[in-house]
Amino acid sequence: MSQTLSCSAVLDNPRMFDVFAFARKQQQASGEVLVQNLSRILNEVTPDKLAQHPALRWNVTGAIRQELVAGGKSVAMPYLRLTLEGALWLECQRCLEPYQEPLTIDIWYRIVQNSAQADAAPANDERADVIVGSRQFDLIDLIDEELLLSLPLVPKHSVCPFTHESIVGYGVETSN
Ligand SMILES: [Zn+2]
Repeated sequence: MSQTLSCSAVLDNPRMFDVFAFARKQQQASGEVLVQNLSRILNEVTPDKLAQHPALRWNVTGAIRQELVAGGKSVAMPYLRLTLEGALWLECQRCLEPYQEPLTIDIWYRIVQNSAQADAAPANDERADVIVGSRQFDLIDLIDEELLLSLPLVPKHSVCPFTHESIVGYGVETSN
C-alpha cells in the first residue's frame, strides 16, 4: 500500500486528499475527469456536444520550497503544480456554431493553511497562485475553477466557417 514516486500514480480520491502531505512527500499523480463532472464548466460548454468531449487529462506534482520568513527563519512551504491539456466545445459568439477551444493549464500553487494567510500573501506573485490547502482537498473543484478562468472572454472561431457577408452583429437568427 506504500505510495511511491511513480509518474503514473493515481490519487485514490482526487476529490478528497491531504494536499499538504502530497506536497511534503513530493508526490505526483495523474488522472482523467469528464466535463460532466465539472459543475461550472458544464454551464459553459455547448450542450449538444456534451457527449463528444473527451476526458480531460490532468497531472499534479507536489513540491517543497524553502522560503525566508520574518526574523530570517526558513520554512518549508508546500507547493502544487497542476497541468492539464484538453479542449472544450464552446459556442462561437460570431456565427453561433459550436467549435473546439483548445485549453492548456500549467500553474504552480503556493499552498497556505487558511484564508488569513492567503490574504496576507503577496499579490501578483508571478511564480505561483495561492490556494488554501486542506486535508480533504478537492482537486476536481480546483480544475473546474481553473478551466473557467482560462476560458476566452468572447469564445469564437479564429475564422468562422459559415459566416456570410450579410450577417452583422451578434445573435442574428431567422425563424424560418
Ligand atoms: Zn464562428
